[in-house]
Amino acid sequence: MFEGLSDRLSGILSGLTRRGALTEADVSEALREVRRALLEADVALEVVRSFTDKVRERAVGAEVVKSVTPGQMVVKIVNDALVEMLGAEAETIDVRALPPVPILMVGLQGSGKTTTTAKIAKRLSEREKKKVLMASLDTRRPAAMEQLAILGKQVSVDTLPIVAGQSAVQIAKRAMQAARLGGYDVVMLDTAGRVTVDEQLMAEAADVGKAVEAHEVLLVADALTGQDAVNTARAFDGRMGLTGIVLTRMDGDSRGGAALSMRAVTGKPIKLIGTGEKVDALEEFHPSRVANRILGMGDIVSLVEKAAETIDQDKAMRMAEKMRKGKFDLDDLSEQLGQMEKIGGVGGLMGMMPGMGAMKKQLEGAKIDDKVIGRQRAIISSMTKAERRNPDLLKASRKKRIAAGSGTKVEDVNKLLKMHRQMADVMKMMGKNKKGGIAGALGN
Ligand code: GDP
Ligand code: MG
Repeated sequence: MFEGLSDRLSGILSGLTRRGALTEADVSEALREVRRALLEADVALEVVRSFTDKVRERAVGAEVVKSVTPGQMVVKIVNDALVEMLGAEAETIDVRALPPVPILMVGLQGSGKTTTTAKIAKRLSEREKKKVLMASLDTRRPAAMEQLAILGKQVSVDTLPIVAGQSAVQIAKRAMQAARLGGYDVVMLDTAGRVTVDEQLMAEAADVGKAVEAHEVLLVADALTGQDAVNTARAFDGRMGLTGIVLTRMDGDSRGGAALSMRAVTGKPIKLIGTGEKVDALEEFHPSRVANRILGMGDIVSLVEKAAETIDQDKAMRMAEKMRKGKFDLDDLSEQLGQMEKIGGVGGLMGMMPGMGAMKKQLEGAKIDDKVIGRQRAIISSMTKAERRNPDLLKASRKKRIAAGSGTKVEDVNKLLKMHRQMADVMKMMGKNKKGGIAGALGN
């Protein structure tokens, strides 16, 4: 499956490298292959469409990194968008509420609800030291209640004693009552499933959710169901408002397209993944790993990342050379600030240069956040070329104009100029200190 894919991607891989912006044609060509990869990974058609449209918008006009092909560049952009879409940060089960915290498990029959209920209970009790009570609300199949009781023994988590003849809502209320009396932190409610989404199933789960005011409503979905996952997720979310999704059978040969589909349709996070039948086969959801699995183009992604890194290093070397010569104008400062912005804070090129740790700390101490960086760059871009080369040209009236032009105050302009002066001074010092180099000048 993966081999065939990379064969077809040979067009993307063997293209010529080129500098400049991605054209409409570059993007369209690469997206044709990406589209195929997504469909092969079982991403729902409607999601593939909206996703590729979004990526197209983002990709056309984007700069191609040196020594990669336009097609590879598009793949990298697609990968990043995929990771973003899947959810950039790791999510966990939220049990921060007044105990006992009710967690409702919903989903189709056979999706892995009962197994996952026990897996999560085990994790909460072992890792978070929570006292957990599990209850099966499957009133139609006595065997289902028995299954949960057996799993409970296996993971050393209590299960609610079985009482015949109660409705799902009654059992749920009894579980909450027992949990209050028994001093439990969390109540895991395992609902009955159906082969397909049906009204009775939805109504029952929704009633339970309302009766206990479920803190988490987790949809358990089989990663192998692919396209169907979208309909299931949409139906459950529309009916009772999901708080998250657990994707099971990620140990199978599913490429994980269901994760993207469900996330796209519901906007709800994938909180955990099931990776086997055993009770400890439960893992955190890592967006970048799943993106790689869906796209199957990890090699291209890391190739582009490496190329981009090399360029940053080239820039760092050139900048270091300028510093050594004592030439560091406001254009250079702007570029530095741009790097910081890109990397998400103070660091960037500075962090890559030997011995720059001290200055980095100084800047961190000055609390330069992204907003400040944006303003500082705006100030610099409001200056003329000559002023950027030689800030001494800036008189009071020009500073006023620049402040107005960049939506800042004269005070901000002065602060920026002072920062530049200080940095240039340090750099001059480094230039003079030939023996010790940068590190010597900063005393580290
Ligand atoms: P329910 O009907 O939704 O409660 O589903 P069950 O929890 O009874 O699970 C149905 C079957 O799927 C069982 O045989 C489980 O062992 C199996 N199962 C559940 N989760 C996973 C998983 O992550 N990977 C694999 N391979 N099997 C799983
Ligand atoms: Mg079950």
